[in-house]
Amino acid sequence: MSALLEVKNLEAAYGPVKAVRGVSLSVPDGKIATVLGPNGAGKTTLLKTLSGINDPKRGSVIFGGQDVTGLDPSEIVRQGLVQVPEGREVFPLLSVHDNLMMGAYLRRDRDGVARDLETVLAYFPILKERAKQDAGLLSGGQQQMLAIARALMQAPRMILLDEPSLGLSPKLTQEIFDIVLRINRERGTALMVVEQNAQIALATADIGFILEGGRIVCEGPCAELRERADIQEFYLGMGGQGARGEKRWKKKKSWQ
Ligand code: ATP
Repeated sequence: MSALLEVKNLEAAYGPVKAVRGVSLSVPDGKIATVLGPNGAGKTTLLKTLSGINDPKRGSVIFGGQDVTGLDPSEIVRQGLVQVPEGREVFPLLSVHDNLMMGAYLRRDRDGVARDLETVLAYFPILKERAKQDAGLLSGGQQQMLAIARALMQAPRMILLDEPSLGLSPKLTQEIFDIVLRINRERGTALMVVEQNAQIALATADIGFILEGGRIVCEGPCAELRERADIQEFYLGMGGQGARGEKRWKKKKSWQ
């Protein structure tokens, strides 16, 4: 299967702090990838570098066959790669409807925008109910829905989703992941989801990457990752997470 996203030897840093240290990965078109890893592993930096918010120091990002390395974020959005940031970042003083329309500001196909608005509101009926209210009045879960819905209004080929479960109850988290799956299956949109809740991420995604210290230490189909003793121990809380105080990853495995 052809890769929609192909990342090679990507490096990103904040001054002297190297946050992403030579990441190579590929995500096939129409698939869901998840990126797991401890705090400070470089997950958010990786997403921000893919979407052009951070500049890469080295390496390349090929998206849909185009080299998008170091392009402006708006140009990368135009190519169809859209990020939903951690913490959602909705415009609190704009209405839910206007937040959604902000998502479509780069588009000129008015009919397509109208169609997508209808589809998106069907995914998230609560946003239809609250369309006229200020986005700042929504609950955390509803704001997460709005952030995903706004990303969909950009007609993405791939969505980069940073910690969608942040601050949400298990029930709401499940609802968000159910919608992620629906978007993927019904629209064919690929996703890369950074998530602390490894259980739900590995149950939803097709392929997984584990990042530690800015490097990928493990990757594979989620069905295989879920079965691995080291993953179960350190990420799925089966067998005393982190009890040994160190991780013994099996040799990095290629899944392609
Ligand atoms: P978390 O799960 O806590 O969100 P993460 O895996 O997303 O962590 P990043 O936020 O990408 O990790 O951080 C990677 C490294 O870069 C960390 O050492 C972090 O302290 C550092 N870092 C992140 N943002 C900045 C910044 N704006 N300025 C300086 N250093 C930063």
